[in-house]
Amino acid sequence: MTDWSTLIDACGSAGHVPALLDRFEADPSGVWSELMDHLCPQLDTAFTASFAALPRLAEIATAAGSENLGGVLSAAGAIASCSPGLSEPDSPLMVFSAPIAVLHDLANRSLSQTAEAEAEEYVNLLQALLSFEGVETWDRSLSGLQTGEYEVDCPYCGVNVFVVIGHDGYFCCTDDYSLQEVQKSPLQPARGQQLEGLPRRLFERALADGQERLAHGVRHLFGRAACPDCGTGFSVSERVVAGWIP
Ligand SMILES: [Zn+2]
Repeated sequence: MTDWSTLIDACGSAGHVPALLDRFEADPSGVWSELMDHLCPQLDTAFTASFAALPRLAEIATAAGSENLGGVLSAAGAIASCSPGLSEPDSPLMVFSAPIAVLHDLANRSLSQTAEAEAEEYVNLLQALLSFEGVETWDRSLSGLQTGEYEVDCPYCGVNVFVVIGHDGYFCCTDDYSLQEVQKSPLQPARGQQLEGLPRRLFERALADGQERLAHGVRHLFGRAACPDCGTGFSVSERVVAGWIP
């Protein structure tokens, strides 16, 4: 049995966490923010009680209806993404590997059942899936594919570059393109065949799940761009990783 009083959450002793999880199970969408305030504030900090909650979150996810499953998985995914990596001794990803396997399986199945119109939900599930696998950076950096924009620095001149992927087209620029006509520099998407490793897997997975627009976005995210100011070419994903502050 977990002795919750010996654990902590964002507010101190975690003795109240089991009751909070009971309320979350009864009303996942209503209690989601409160749960995250305690277990994963700003979705980037976790505590001993956060990881200890993963077995219960796996149970809640298993019993959840389709309307609530995504929220439960994103809560557990946010916590998992705060875990030290699998190579660290006593990584929560290892300590709680059994419930994490359950959560991973549920996220995996939900991805296949998410309609193309629900691309935002799909990206959330994909990030949760990667969190449960211990994938670094991309478990939290795919959201630009749903917002349609990444902000990166030019590796040569340092200017702030908006890389626009999706809703407003596929280009990069240095000024706010939503307010004015701007000078746009085209993106060079990677060809599907050029992609390897995780990018290849994300691309093929999105295609297999009928998320064609997202797969197109992945090719641009892992493609190249040129700085509109100085013309220096760069890998979009490398600049996203370079600007990533964990
Ligand atoms: Zn530049």
